[in-house]
Amino acid sequence: DNPTLTPQRQPEDQDAALRPKSLGEFVGQEAARENLRVFIEAARGRGEAMDHVLFFGPPGLGKTTLAQIVAKELGVGFRATSGPVIGKTGDLAALLTNLEPHDVLFIDEIHRLNPVVEEVLYPAMEDRALDLIIGEGPSARSVRIDLPPFTLIGATTRQGLLTTPLRDRFGIPVRLNFYTVPELERVVTRSASLLGMAIDPAGAREVARRSRGTPRVAGRLLRRVRDFAHVAGAPLITSEVADKALTRLEVDSLGLDAMDRRYLSMIADIYKGGPVGVETLAAGLAEPRDTIEDVVEPFLIQLGLVARTARGRCLNDAGWNHLGITPPSGSQT
Ligand code: ADP
Repeated sequence: DNPTLTPQRQPEDQDAALRPKSLGEFVGQEAARENLRVFIEAARGRGEAMDHVLFFGPPGLGKTTLAQIVAKELGVGFRATSGPVIGKTGDLAALLTNLEPHDVLFIDEIHRLNPVVEEVLYPAMEDRALDLIIGEGPSARSVRIDLPPFTLIGATTRQGLLTTPLRDRFGIPVRLNFYTVPELERVVTRSASLLGMAIDPAGAREVARRSRGTPRVAGRLLRRVRDFAHVAGAPLITSEVADKALTRLEVDSLGLDAMDRRYLSMIADIYKGGPVGVETLAAGLAEPRDTIEDVVEPFLIQLGLVARTARGRCLNDAGWNHLGITPPSGSQT
């Protein structure tokens, strides 16, 4: 198992190995977990399918993991797909008609559903029925197919990306937040033990501090730190070992990566601290606007480095400080 020989693109497999399997094992997100526990117990007690759930929040916070856990704790089957994959209404019909009663159907990136498919999903969610048009032209007719009771779990990076009719059909909306450093320490310690790595508490804390509030990032950094430790012949991951590795990976003291710093520097250097529109930033950074809004900005805003204003993005004092630049006099913040 030489990690340096592993192909880069295996996020699915790598995530799967570290996934908690029960609500009890799932770290953090206290409010979400407690609510889900109640709804799961109630649905089990009544012998019914649980109401539809929408998970929203930045990537890597545990939406897929929680969906799997919900199915497991309900004691029902789990089917997973994603919005862009369901191209035609027939694809959705096939998925829905193949569910066993009370199953969980997980649709990741549900905001990217084809609008025609989304229309078919409404009655499926509400009345457990599929309205399909069979045939074409004058002989076309509409048929209604009854579906087994099921739970739809949707995941999206931002609640606001969903159309109102779709959003309204989820009885249980659940927001996932960035994790605190102590929570990430627990994630790192747990993952290290699953990966068979020796790490001391200070080492775990260092990786946690620099994981951008995100368990997926924690898992990724942990693997890279392991690589550095392995090559350096360090038997135990201490805070020094972790710091050296993370610094070489260009992860700074706040956990910001090269992309984060390019974003901050662009606002500082080119736009004198802003305000600047997100489209302009996306073009300047040659990144899709979605990546900027879903991946880069939420954490920088959470840290208070950047503010989202009606006129655009502005660098806050903390942002200038982090870059080590004195704001030009007369700047907007
Ligand atoms: P999302 O679907 O929100 O993008 P995932 O559910 O795929 O995120 O989680 C990404 C990775 O982070 C997985 O490897 C998962 O095991 C890990 N992870 C997420 N949340 C937690 C948590 N609360 N405790 C431990 N590991 C977690």
